[in-house]
Amino acid sequence: MPLPLAAGSLQGLSLLRAGVNRVIGLPDLLASLAGLRPSKRLRLQVILLRDEEGEPVAPLAEVEAALAETARVLELAARTRLVPTGDSLVVTADGPAPAAALDAPCTSQGLWRTDLGPAGGFFRGLRIRGGLRFIGRGAPLTVFVVRDVVGKCGCSLGPLGDYVTVDAEGLGGRTRRILAHELGHSCGLRHKPDERNLMRPKGPGEELTVWQTAVFRSSRHVTYL
Ligand SMILES: [Zn+2]
Repeated sequence: MPLPLAAGSLQGLSLLRAGVNRVIGLPDLLASLAGLRPSKRLRLQVILLRDEEGEPVAPLAEVEAALAETARVLELAARTRLVPTGDSLVVTADGPAPAAALDAPCTSQGLWRTDLGPAGGFFRGLRIRGGLRFIGRGAPLTVFVVRDVVGKCGCSLGPLGDYVTVDAEGLGGRTRRILAHELGHSCGLRHKPDERNLMRPKGPGEELTVWQTAVFRSSRHVTYL
């Protein structure tokens, strides 16, 4: 199948799945808007890639610090706890990753092309599977720590994908909440310019509005069990 056609079909199916999940999540959205927010869980695996020499692209301690900040922000803003899919939230990849994945492009026009190219093939091959197979309810999210998200600090296919990429350089400092921000995109959140908001594109804050909290908590990745 030609690439644009394959990308179009995949995007169409993912849009349908996202729509069905929004309907299923409606009672939870309304409950959250009404102030009922019991603790929920987001199943997660962070995979730290290795470069051509086999070296991890970032120190494990930096990844763990970014993850601790992510856990703090999501608990505070959305009463959502990060739960590992395996023994530990972070694992280091077994061997070197392909160059296309180490330096992964992220452009608004090319996201689906990237997803269907060699980088996306690599990411989709390693992503953690789970949840209800066809509708993707309860599907875990996989975070890939890459050497460079070209031109950005992180990348997400929004609610249509099950994985995100985060730039090794973006794990600390002003961009230390990029990991939480990308998970926000995967759970249905869009950008918001407010300085204190988690969905501010550069240098995210740590807050979510009542509406954003409800959207996040009723996403297909966030569950009670
Ligand atoms: Zn963003």
